[in-house]
Amino acid sequence: MQINSKTKLACLLGHPVGHSFSPIIHNYLYEVYGENIVYLCFDVDRDWLQKASSALGTLEMIGANVTIPHKVDIMKYLDEIDLNADIIGAVNTIQNRGGILKGYNTDGRGFVKSILDGGFEISGKNILLIGAGGAARSISVELASQGASSITIANRSLEKAEEIVKIIRSNFNTDVNAIGFDISQSQLDGVEILINTTPIGMNVAGTDSIFKMPIDEKLDLGSDVLVCDIVYNPDETEFIKWAKSQGSDVVLGIDMLINQAFESFHIWTGKMPTEVDRYKIKELLSDPR
Ligand code: NAP
Repeated sequence: MQINSKTKLACLLGHPVGHSFSPIIHNYLYEVYGENIVYLCFDVDRDWLQKASSALGTLEMIGANVTIPHKVDIMKYLDEIDLNADIIGAVNTIQNRGGILKGYNTDGRGFVKSILDGGFEISGKNILLIGAGGAARSISVELASQGASSITIANRSLEKAEEIVKIIRSNFNTDVNAIGFDISQSQLDGVEILINTTPIGMNVAGTDSIFKMPIDEKLDLGSDVLVCDIVYNPDETEFIKWAKSQGSDVVLGIDMLINQAFESFHIWTGKMPTEVDRYKIKELLSDPR
């Protein structure tokens, strides 16, 4: 792309940001869709967050993605918040419309898209979610929005799972419960979609996390359970390998990662990328240089 006097800026605000795949995904999309935009990462300390957010308006940026640790704090500097982002209590995408900054949360939307794009259904399903962090919060709200029949949240700190239960109960009719982290066979029986939202299984240098599972591998999944992992490095976690070995369909974290970026791109440009773009981006991410 030729950068010129009309080029607009989109960016990532976070701390740290050095590991992010977002510039690769977004700059690829701008090139393919002929958008005169460039995407950069800014490592922003908490004390500078307000100034960074007002720069979006001052510099007439298209918008920004927001990542750890600013997804909650950023909300107080925005003019409008999308309904689901408000329920979730966190924002990962900001749109600048003529100086009005509106916050969205595309994490859960990206996750839901990865299930629906795979030809699977959410409406009427019994769902078990492992983990109750920021990603789980966003995913739970979108699953409830999509008409999930029941959502059970299993977490090490029960009080964090209970916080999500409260959010869902006060906004949706979904049957929702919190349980402890150690899932038993009877708790697994009847589950139709099983999701790992913890970092267990992630490739973390100097640790054995990549060999770990968020559930007892002796448990029997039964038939027709869709298993999803939001960890995207490695592509196929131990959890996903275990699910495949039991004959389950799977959805990978890389698809959620790409989809949440597609949703941000859609908010900023009105365009929705295609499966061809997903394929090309996966190739780019496997060789990020
Ligand atoms: P977070 O807010 O820090 O939450 C982490 C959750 O995992 C908490 O519920 C925590 O339990 C639980 N957990 C962490 N380590 C654990 C362990 N050793 N044993 C049991 N439970 C453990 O993190 P997050 O933002 O939700 O992100 C979670 C993972 O999702 C990360 O790996 C992140 O990279 C990935 N992610 C992927 C995408 C994507 O697009 N694919 C998007 C967002 C996040 P406690 O509450 O007890 O601490």
